[in-house]
Order: sequence, then C-alpha cells, then structure tokens
Amino acid sequence: MATFKAPRGTADALPPDQPYWEFVRRQGEAICRRYGYRRIDTPVFEEAGVFIRTIGQDTDIVEKEMYLFKDRGGKEMSLKPEGTASVCRAYLEHGMSSLPQPVRLYYLSPVFRYERPQAGRLRQHHQLGAEALGELDPALDAEIIDLAWRFYLSLGLQGLSIQVNSLGCLKCRPAYRQALVAYFASRLGEMCPDCRSRFDRNPLRLLDCKNAACIAVGDEAPRSTDHLCLECGQHFASVVRYLNLWELTYNLDHRLVRGLDYYTRTVFEIQPPEGGSQSTIGGGGRYDDLMEELGGRPTPGVGFATGLERIVSNLQRQGIALPAALGPRVYVCYLEEARDEAFRLLAELRHGGVEAVAAVGGRSLKSQLRQADAQGMSRAIILGGDELKSGCPMVRDMSNGQQQSIPTGQLTAFLKGLSG
Ligand SMILES: [Zn+2]
Ligand SMILES: [Zn+2]
Repeated sequence: MATFKAPRGTADALPPDQPYWEFVRRQGEAICRRYGYRRIDTPVFEEAGVFIRTIGQDTDIVEKEMYLFKDRGGKEMSLKPEGTASVCRAYLEHGMSSLPQPVRLYYLSPVFRYERPQAGRLRQHHQLGAEALGELDPALDAEIIDLAWRFYLSLGLQGLSIQVNSLGCLKCRPAYRQALVAYFASRLGEMCPDCRSRFDRNPLRLLDCKNAACIAVGDEAPRSTDHLCLECGQHFASVVRYLNLWELTYNLDHRLVRGLDYYTRTVFEIQPPEGGSQSTIGGGGRYDDLMEELGGRPTPGVGFATGLERIVSNLQRQGIALPAALGPRVYVCYLEEARDEAFRLLAELRHGGVEAVAAVGGRSLKSQLRQADAQGMSRAIILGGDELKSGCPMVRDMSNGQQQSIPTGQLTAFLKGLSG
C-alpha cells in the first residue's frame, strides 16, 4: 500500500526545530505587546470575497494562488492567503470603530497559497502580523516599521535593511499610473512575457518584476514619490521624519510596490543581506481604502506581516544561538524494587515544576542510564536498594558523571536551582 507524505509545499515542524519556533513566537508576541498591540485570532478560512475584493482581481494571489472551495452549503470559501483582510473583516464585524482609535492588533496564523514549491516557496506558511486600525497619522506607519525592525533585531538577525516607498492615493495614483504606462509602452519590447501581459491591467506590478531585464527597465521608470498629491507628499515626509527621529536606517526604493492591490501611501519591506527583494522576510504598508472594499465606512489602517519559516531559516543560517533552556531535563532510573518510589517521585517532580521522565520498558539500570545519555538528559536520578532505604536518591550529572545524594524532600528544590 502507498504511504502518505505531507502535501507538497508544506512542512512538519519537528521537535529539534521547535526551540527556534518558540523563540520567534515569544519574541514576536513580547514586542507586539510592548508596542501596545493585542492578539486577535481569526478563522483559517473566510468567504472568498473577503480576499478577492481587497487583494485585487489582477494579483498573482487571486489569479492563481488562493485555495478556493465551495462548502457543503455551496458558499465560495477560501483558506486565508494573508492576514490583513481577515483582521479588517473582524474590526468591522465587531464594531471596533466605537473603541478608542487606533485599535492595535497582532496575530500569529498559518496562511495558504498555491505557490510553486520548486521555487522554495511553501503552500502553508506561518505569519506574525500587526495592524493599527482607524487612524491616518503617519506616526503609526513609522511605528509599524519600527516594530518590525525591533522584532528582527531582538532575534539577533544581522545585516537587514529597510526599503520604503509611497504609492500615493486614489487621487494622485491615476496620474502616476499614466506616466508609468507611457514609459513602459516604449520599453515593453525589452520586458518578460509576464510583464507584457500585465501591462494593460496592472502597470505598477511591472516595477516589481524580478527578471533582470525588467529590473533594468524599472530602475529608470518614473517614481511614484515624484507624483504624490500634496497630502500624500506631506504624509510620506512625516513618516520619514519619524524614522529619522528613531534613528532607523532605510533606503527609498521607487520599485517597491508589494504584490497586493490594497496598499495606499506607505509601503515597506525588510530584506536580509543575501538575495535582496527575492528573499524579503517581512513587509507591509498602509491600506486606507481596504475597509470600504469590505463594505465598511472609510477607515484607514497600516500594518505589516512576516513569514516565520523564513525567519527560522535565517536564524539557522546565521548560526544564532538560542537562549538556554530553563532548568535541567531529568531522567528517573530505578531498580525494580524501587519502581513505586520512582513513579511517586516522578509525579512529585513534575507537579513541582521540573521537566522529568522515568525509564519505561523494564530495562536494566545500566541500560536506563544509556537511554538518559542518548536522550540528552542533563541529570539522572538513580533509585536502587540503598537509596530506597536511606530516602536519599542519587543525582548524576550526565555531562561529567559526578553524583551526589540528595534527600527526597529536597530534590525538587535542588533540581529547580540548577541552570541546565
Ligand atoms: Zn495622494
Ligand atoms: Zn518582467
């Protein structure tokens, strides 16, 4: 019979990788809370319209990457391809506009896109995201960029850079779009088939193409920041002023547009030293028209999201050491005559807050100690006839073989006092 494998483009996170995941999630949540953000969880699937209306018909995500399905009631649903639209749907549904604004929310969630796995992309990956909803103030754009930046720094990632741009608003973007169309029309012969087919529908996306020839054409293209209306120009100048105030180093990148249609004004990405925009580990921007696309009143918002798999692989590639695990890992070994005392002690240690397991399977004491070693335990507790009689189990340091005998009543406190 054929055996099963995880679906293409998905990955199991096995126990040896979990310390990285825990570290990343813990740092992420700590930073979000320090910036005043509160956690929200939304379902892994939504009515498909939530995403189609906001992300945009002509984007890669909606055209070919969404996991669409009809539920048994015939409703068109989609697995979440990104987090922001769901959070905005929840903001509207729960009347959060009546709360003091802005409402600051963060989430940790899997997202699903039918990507090409051969390009190293996952079909299910995990994101941390933060959204500040209900306020137009440019201080929030800068806050979100700063939050993302401090998150990566807190993980010890090195050599990252911030790219920023402003895409303007409904008022000033049409003129910019026209300038782009006029420019690209004269250079289309030099560009890739994807760009040629996108040219009519979504000329902004031509700036974002990763093809070398297209990058060269895009570099000389008109810049959105030269076409901003007065309000957008002042807004962007103010974002940049806050970034300077907080001493963040950033590059203005006029080719930065992001792959979703809902962005207005500020967009940004954070990139690791190798690979540039191909390996962006996080990004976001402002989306002042998104709530209206969902049927709400005009409600501004700004946010960012970052893929956790990419962070974990960057941590592993940069060889970043994780903070040491708390406390020792204890393995309880025993002779048959001390079995009941061993299992009583095991429960006492666990309830007292010590990580402990006991040998199982009826092995000899020697074999139990080999197991403790093979499992990387830091301490073994040995209960033989003598220890049973004296009420003082032996504690063996597995790193050097040194042993000391500790009265049962003091054992939990003794083990909790050890660093590992
Ligand atoms: Zn504008
Ligand atoms: Zn191209």
